[in-house]
Amino acid sequence: MDKKINLDYLIDDIIVNSDDLTPFQCQICLNSVIDFKKEHLSFDVLQCRNGHISCHECWSRQLSIKQECPSCKVKTLQSELSRNIFLENAFRALKVICPNKFKESRFQGEAVHCENGCPEILKVELLEHHLKECKYQFIKCPNNPNKCKYIVRKNQLEHHNQSVCEYSMLQCEKCSELVERNQMKQHMESECDTLVVSCSKCSAMIGKKQMMSHLELDCPMEEISCLYRAGGCVKRFPRSQLSQHLTENNNHTFYIQNIIDLHKLQLDECNQDNRKLEKQQKELEKRIFYLESTVNSTVLNYKPHECTSSGGAGNVFKGKWVINNWDRKLREYPTSKSLNSPFFQIGSSKFFIMLYPNGNNDFKGFLSIFLYKIYDRPTLVKYSLEAKNIDPSKNYKNTHINSFINNNGNGWFKWIENKSQNGFFTNNSLTISISIKIIQDHSLVTD
Ligand SMILES: [Zn+2]
Ligand SMILES: [Zn+2]
Ligand SMILES: [Zn+2]
Ligand SMILES: [Zn+2]
Ligand SMILES: [Zn+2]
Ligand SMILES: [Zn+2]
Ligand SMILES: [Zn+2]
Repeated sequence: MDKKINLDYLIDDIIVNSDDLTPFQCQICLNSVIDFKKEHLSFDVLQCRNGHISCHECWSRQLSIKQECPSCKVKTLQSELSRNIFLENAFRALKVICPNKFKESRFQGEAVHCENGCPEILKVELLEHHLKECKYQFIKCPNNPNKCKYIVRKNQLEHHNQSVCEYSMLQCEKCSELVERNQMKQHMESECDTLVVSCSKCSAMIGKKQMMSHLELDCPMEEISCLYRAGGCVKRFPRSQLSQHLTENNNHTFYIQNIIDLHKLQLDECNQDNRKLEKQQKELEKRIFYLESTVNSTVLNYKPHECTSSGGAGNVFKGKWVINNWDRKLREYPTSKSLNSPFFQIGSSKFFIMLYPNGNNDFKGFLSIFLYKIYDRPTLVKYSLEAKNIDPSKNYKNTHINSFINNNGNGWFKWIENKSQNGFFTNNSLTISISIKIIQDHSLVTD
């Protein structure tokens, strides 16, 4: 917005009749007792018990040194000063000129009258309000305040805008773009989008904006390469001669064949890259699969491995997998999406369980469950998975012997029924007892 310039003036500058100020003289500093430098005028006139007046500043300074009136020496405290309403009213009625009568800056310390200034003469009490509305107040040019240093009166701003300021924004008559006045000439001569210029090659009249695309795509005189340059034809000629060149040089089939060969080569390379990427992707998917199986699950409590005493070759794992927030698992794992347990180990063999809360494939009404072994070597395993019921006599246990000879799992598509009331999902959690015994570890077997 407009930046107002605060005029620096004193009551002496604007009083119409300077004799009027005599009754308001401070007995100490001899200036008027009403302070005009403050942002808001305060008309309080303060006096001693005997009626001697001073300006506010002089009273504070005097009373901080000695608590007496400098004129009559009567003992005076700041709190004992009283107002002189009669003088205040008289001051309010003094006639002054509007400070916007002056030029914007003083000359050798003097405020200078300006013939274009505000002609208003008014009572002091109306001054503050008038200054807010005075059309003669000075403001900084708002167009480009960093560049235009003009300070103009408010009522001259329009004139300044329209015919003086170099930085006012004007609309280009042709393209409607807004351009600073000092840029308009250049805009009209070389930048305006509506300019039409002649092509340096073919002399056609082209819109300035379209010239680039004219040369790139249309200009008949622009020199271009043969369409089959990539196949080996290095001829260059004006665009208009293209069809003539193509008919005259029958060997273009040779160049075309070159291009086809080139493309075949590139295609082969692409296919190779593609196969590489596919391989990488498969490996990454594998890694994700194993990582997920460690992350996805809840708490796995298990007892440390116990070695079986019989035979000595087998190892046993016994543990428990507790899955909490069962209702959430049902929502988050739709049919054919598995929830995987953390890994658990017997010696160097790593296992985990894949549980399908909503069943795998076509077994929607059931939980599907599978034991997986991260494949390192063929292993024969006897395992049982038992779903704990609130009524222990209804615990559901399946036992199986399986030879793990690759990364596949082994287990049951149709395990327990997916019914909230069947006693397996009490407290919204499911507990699975795991028992695994390695019967034969092939690394230990000699053929
Ligand atoms: Zn004073
Ligand atoms: Zn006094
Ligand atoms: Zn005025
Ligand atoms: Zn300006
Ligand atoms: Zn224009
Ligand atoms: Zn052209
Ligand atoms: Zn050619």
